Amino acid sequence: MYPKVIQKLINLFSNFPTIGPRTATRFVFYLLKLPKEKLEELSQVILDLKKEIKICKICFNPFSPAQILESKIEADKDKEKKEICPICQNPARDRSKICVIANETDLAKIESTRKYNGVYHILGGNIKLAKKNLAGFLKIKELIKRIEQERNKEKEMEIILALNPTTEGNATSLYLEKELKPFNIKITRLGRGLPIGGELEYADEETLSSSLEGRN
Ligand SMILES: [Zn+2]
Repeated sequence: MYPKVIQKLINLFSNFPTIGPRTATRFVFYLLKLPKEKLEELSQVILDLKKEIKICKICFNPFSPAQILESKIEADKDKEKKEICPICQNPARDRSKICVIANETDLAKIESTRKYNGVYHILGGNIKLAKKNLAGFLKIKELIKRIEQERNKEKEMEIILALNPTTEGNATSLYLEKELKPFNIKITRLGRGLPIGGELEYADEETLSSSLEGRN
């Protein structure tokens, strides 16, 4: 019904999280009204995403290595350091505490409380109950490898499961508890207070802070 290129872009936007075909169509007609320079800027920023952002090879947090060098957090130009995010590089963070979260936005949310000084592990989603064996797509193997490497150090390890209080989040926590049981390490979950069925991302800072402090 629309010209081919319009339909193609609608289809591409429809694949975005939470975007349905109606919103996707509005995006395309909005873009059509923009001046050429704005479209060029947009295309360039999208291309820069892949060029400038790296995914931390320890916790899978996206970060900008160029910014680390600019801000001189780390003057060391060691290649290894360019592959590790500022949180994992920070000597003040407690590596014996790993907070397991579903998405990047959850990390930002927990950081905003300023109540957590451990490190993170981004799974990349939750176990989808409708589809079988989706656990394989999450960074669970990588988490187990980290625990194997860290657990023999002097400090007792704690794995904090900070997944959404939703059916899928709970299923993911249960699955992880089962997988991590053989390691005999402390496994905690966020305390009460988070609205059941809600997402961590939308919790207010105070609720999230007390839920972190009240973990058990
Ligand atoms: Zn990291």
